[in-house]
Amino acid sequence: MNRKQFMVGAIAIMASATLSFAQNTDKETCCAITKKEVKCKNTVKEGETLCYLHNPDHVSEDEESVICSGTTKAGNKCKLKTKDLTGLCHHHRK
Ligand SMILES: [Zn+2]
Ligand SMILES: [Zn+2]
Repeated sequence: MNRKQFMVGAIAIMASATLSFAQNTDKETCCAITKKEVKCKNTVKEGETLCYLHNPDHVSEDEESVICSGTTKAGNKCKLKTKDLTGLCHHHRK
């Protein structure tokens, strides 16, 4: 393979990568309605109907998330992770 063929090949790969990226926008989107009464435009994982923002069960492994500081009805410490500024998960945040 000479240099010119290599360049053509590289461009073809880039073009197809751009194309598949564009197709990703046609993915399933979140079915939640935002506070502004606009349909959420976030894409969702296969088989899911809510994006990570609207799915209350979503647990992120991000560094930002902390363990909930709430206490369960049984008196145990809540083990759920949360990203909320209050440090409380969706069960304890009201
Ligand atoms: Zn959403
Ligand atoms: Zn909690």
